[in-house]
Order: sequence, then structure tokens, then C-alpha cells
Amino acid sequence: MPALMLSRSQKNLALSVLVLIVVTMLGLLTAALLLAGQQANQLAAPNLHGELWRAYQTTREMELTLKAARQYQQGEISGDDLVVRIQVLRSSTRMLQDSRMFSALPLPRPRADEALARIISLSSTWNKQAHFADEQAAQRLAIQINRDMAPLIKPMHEVMIASNISLANKLDHDRQLLYKSFRYIGWALIGLLIGSTLLVARLIYNYRQARQLSNRLSELNHTLEDRVAMRTLELSEEQRVLNQILQASPSDVAFFSADGDEVYFISEGLQSSLLSPSSTFEYAQFFADPADAERFHANLINDNQVDDLEALLRGPSAPYYAVISGRVLEHKGRPAHLIWCYDISMRKQMEESLLALANTDALTGLDNRHSFWRKGEALLHYTRRIEQHCVALMLDIDHFKQINDQYGHQAGDLALQKVASELQLGVRENDILGRIGGEEFVVLLPHISTEQALPIAERLRSNVEALHLPLGNGQYHSLTLSIGLASMLTHESLDQLLNRADMALYEAKAAGRNRISICPAPSLKQTQPLSVD
Ligand code: GH3
Ligand code: MG
Ligand code: MG
Repeated sequence: MPALMLSRSQKNLALSVLVLIVVTMLGLLTAALLLAGQQANQLAAPNLHGELWRAYQTTREMELTLKAARQYQQGEISGDDLVVRIQVLRSSTRMLQDSRMFSALPLPRPRADEALARIISLSSTWNKQAHFADEQAAQRLAIQINRDMAPLIKPMHEVMIASNISLANKLDHDRQLLYKSFRYIGWALIGLLIGSTLLVARLIYNYRQARQLSNRLSELNHTLEDRVAMRTLELSEEQRVLNQILQASPSDVAFFSADGDEVYFISEGLQSSLLSPSSTFEYAQFFADPADAERFHANLINDNQVDDLEALLRGPSAPYYAVISGRVLEHKGRPAHLIWCYDISMRKQMEESLLALANTDALTGLDNRHSFWRKGEALLHYTRRIEQHCVALMLDIDHFKQINDQYGHQAGDLALQKVASELQLGVRENDILGRIGGEEFVVLLPHISTEQALPIAERLRSNVEALHLPLGNGQYHSLTLSIGLASMLTHESLDQLLNRADMALYEAKAAGRNRISICPAPSLKQTQPLSVD
């Protein structure tokens, strides 16, 4: 770029120099033309030969005056005629006074000067003395003229020659000057021609360069336009492919300005359910729970990214669980948010059913040992915190093995299901019931004392006793339960509580089955559990 600038300044300098040359030449030409005009005017002056002519006329008048003086003396003309001749002579010599007719002589000619001065002086004197009708004066003048004029006739010829030479010299000098002026004009014209030619050449060169540059610029413009068009086409193609990819993506995608005013892209899946009619994006509309919306938005603003946040989203018809990620990007010079999410409601359902399976006893539908344990510990913790009682019942079907042995395993299963249903019906909603072994069940009864729990246990026992297991051949088999009861002690764990309930159950079995046995308080630990038939 500096090289280009230097070259441009050099070009401007060359152009300026050429313009200066042309202007100078024009000035010189004008001056030379003015000079030549002035000199030509001098050469062409109409009175240039006037003095030579006057000198000749004066000589002629001198000869006529001399002749008139002689004729007067011979009586051929009157004195007044002589006076007229003298006056004419004087008028002729007056015009030679202050003459510069010898100014251009190469050498001085004193005789001519003298003769001229003498005739001017004499004619002046004679003119003063000449009066009409004065014969005496005429006589005197005729004598003086004869005497003084005759010797001046010849020198007067020299005056004419000198005048001629001076005139010729002057003309020669003027011609020389004119010739010089024309030479100046010639040089100025040549300079002007050269300057103008260079200037025109320079201008043509500049014009051609400008045209070349203009053509190149135009070509570049076309190329640029082509490239822009091509790039636009590529971009639109890329955009189309990107849209297809995004639409085909299992994730739903939304790309919008950070303030949500402008939505650049949104998957069809989200379009129907999440966009407001004004085509803006609102997080509050996106999430089912406003707290989730706030959390996601805050994390995105703080960290510029959020990965795999699980949240409940508003669906087109119903909320659904999704994993959502987001990034803060820049688009069209503004901060923008890209978010993508995918539906995990199926996974959630599977997880829930797996969890349910993991926590449920498949045969009876009751909580299994693991689930019971988890819930039981939480319940114990809670009741202890609010300083409430909690009673544990350990229940075991009596002689269950016989059912299996006598009627088959299926009958045993049916018996388990029937007992489980009966137990389920016999407990409250807050109670926790679980199957923890083959034919062993456990119930936790919160907020009640041993005394309050005892009738419940009794009801359970009697309800099971009232059950009749259909054997398929019109016969029924009766079932009984033995129950061990223990009331939660301060700081006692679930394990310890159930151990004590199990001890009471053991006692109930030992005491003859189909009964309830209560585990006494620790102070009474040594004593045997109470048995209730
Ligand atoms: P007790 O009165 O002393 O409790 O005697 P019981 O026969 O009930 O107890 P025991 O422990 O001797 O036998 C329990 C039986 O329960 C043994 C086992 O085969 C059976 N059992 C355990 N789980 C299941 C089950 O899921 N289905 C069936 N059908 N039987 C089971
Ligand atoms: Mg048992
Ligand atoms: Mg049993």
C-alpha cells in the first residue's frame, strides 16, 4: 500500500510539473506575442517616413524660395509673393524642429545637423522679418536669401541622405527585434507543444490506468458478487442441511436470542407446544415448574452452559420428563441461547416400574424386605422425632409347610396372597406392611401404644383365622397366624425392635400358635412375653 501511495504522489508531481510547464509556456507565448504586436505596430506606423518626407519638402521649399527671391529681384513677382514663399518655407522647417530623424544613425553627421539647424534658424528669422506690402523688407530678404540659401541646398541633400540612413537603420533594428520576438514565440510554441504533448500523454496514460483499475475493480466486484452469491447459496444449503439434521435429531432444539425476542430455530416438536403466538421464547412456558425454569436460566447465565438437567416440561397436552442442556452463544452480534432436550418419560416410567419391582414382593404385592426396611427406618426416625409411639407386629402363618406339602406349592402361594390381602385390609394407610420372609409378615403401627396396638393385632389374627383357603375340590383349609408384638423403645433401632417382636412371635409359637405375644419393656426383660389367645 505505501508503494502505491508513493507512486500516486509521484504521478501527481509529474502532472503538476507538466501543467506548470504548459502554463509557463503559455505565459511566455503571450508575452512574446504582445512584444511582436508592439513591434509590428511600430513597423506599420504611418508616420514612420514623415520626417524623411518633410526633409525632402523643406529642400523643395528652399529651392522654390531661392527661385522666388531671384524672380523678385528681377521684378517677375511681387514682394508679397516672396513673403508667401518665406511663410511656406517656415511652416515646413517648423515641423523639423525637435526632430529625431538622425537618432538611428550609425555614425554622427555634423554637417547634416548643422545644415538643418541653420535653415530652421534662417527660415524663422526671415519669417519674422517678412511683412506684406513692405517692399524694403522684401528687398533685404531677397538679398539675404540669395546669399545664405544657395550654399544650404547641397547640405540639405545630405540631411535627406542622413534621414534615409537613420530610417533604414531604425527599420532594420525594429525588424531584428520583431525577428527575435518571433523566435521567442517559436521557442514558446515548441515548449508549449512539448508540454502539451507530455501533458496529453500523461492524461491519456492516467485515463487508461484509471480505466484499467476501473475494469479490475469491476471484475473484482463481479468476482466478489459471485463469491457472495455462492457463499449465500452454500450457507442456505448448509442451513437447509442443518435444519434437516436438527429436525431429524431425537432431541428437540431451540435457538433464540437471550432475551427470547427472536427465535432463530425451533424443532417442530417444540413449536406446537412451547411457542407463544408472538414467536418469542419464554422459559416459564417451557418448564412445567417455574422453579425449574429459574434454576436452568440462572445456571445458563452464570456458567454459559447447562448439561443434562432433568426437569418436567410442559408438553403439547401433558407435562413430560426431559433431560435439558443449554449453551450461551453469539448470533447476529447478540447473545443467544441454544437449548436441546429429549423426552425421558419412557425411561422415567421404566425406572419407576423397576423401582416398584425392586420394592415390591411379586407374589403378594406388599413391600418386600428391602422396601419395608427403608420405609420402616424412616418411620421410626420420624416418630421418635415427634416423640410418638410405634409398635411392631411380627406375623407368621402357622404350619404353613403343611399346606405346601398337602395341597401343593400353588395352594401355598394362594394362601400367602389371601393372608397378604387380609393384612392389607386390616392396617391403616400410615402403617407399613411388608413380607419379609417365606410366610412371615411385619407391620409397623406408628402413633399408638401397646394397648392400642393389641386390638389391631387381634383383629388381624382373627381375620386370617376367618379365612378359608379354597382347595378347588369344594373343600377349604383354615389358616391361623401367630403374632409377636413389641413397642419401640427410646434409641432402639428397627433391627432391635423387630428382634424383640420376633422373640415375642417365637413365644407365641411356643405357646401354641394362633395367638399374640407381647414383648415386655426392658425392665421386665427377664420375664417371658405375655401371650394373648
Ligand atoms: P410354624 O408353625 O412353626 O411356623 O411352621 P411352618 O410350617 O409354618 O414353618 P416352616 O418354617 O417350617 O415352613 C415354612 C414353609 O413355607 C417352608 C417353605 O417351603 C414355605 N414357603 C416359603 N416361601 C414360600 C412361598 O413363597 N410359597 C410357598 N408356596 N411356600 C413357601
Ligand atoms: Mg416361618
Ligand atoms: Mg409358619
